[in-house]
Amino acid sequence: MSLKKELIEICHQLYSKEFVAATDGNVSVRNNKNFFVTRSGISKGKVTANDIINVDSEFNYKSKFSISTESKLHFYIYEHREDINAVIHAHPIYATAFASSKNKLNYPIFPEVILSLGKIPLCKYATPSTDKLPKSLEPYIDFANVFLLENHGVVTTGKNLLEAYYRLEKLEHYAKTVIIGELLGGLKPLSKKNIKELYSISQEIYKLNIKEKNKFL
Ligand SMILES: [Zn+2]
Repeated sequence: MSLKKELIEICHQLYSKEFVAATDGNVSVRNNKNFFVTRSGISKGKVTANDIINVDSEFNYKSKFSISTESKLHFYIYEHREDINAVIHAHPIYATAFASSKNKLNYPIFPEVILSLGKIPLCKYATPSTDKLPKSLEPYIDFANVFLLENHGVVTTGKNLLEAYYRLEKLEHYAKTVIIGELLGGLKPLSKKNIKELYSISQEIYKLNIKEKNKFL
């Protein structure tokens, strides 16, 4: 499947899964030295090839449409992380509720979440579309795979579009499970011993190379 086609499918999936409402959210992917970015003001459920803008390595583009004002967030991530080739910004209900409440979403509860998402930082509130928004990721940009944006939404990243999408799906699923777990009397975090064993197995069997700062130990 072509990269553009994959990006379109991911956009449709974001909308059908209710990870975005109305014209919210934006998606991008690195295409060699250039980028494909969704345009502004379009429902992700209606994105076609005409709504994907080709942006060059200097983040310039020529199109009758404009790229999303939140694209700065995407470019900031690409500039700082060579290992990231896809970025999704969305407003999924449960994860966004965590990003906007006093409760943190950073417990070591589920092994798969620890390995694929790692620590989930809450980035300080910044006005959307300003330069302050990408800056709010700065303390975590070296190690985090996903970010909660205070009073706003989430950003997930991946080495490809599917990984960024699966991380978003997992983040939202996790946030929902945590809320239900709290309603049932509270969550039980894994012990340090459990986590240590998990990291050593992930290295041995899955050859996962998890960044030190993103570990719960
Ligand atoms: Zn947003």
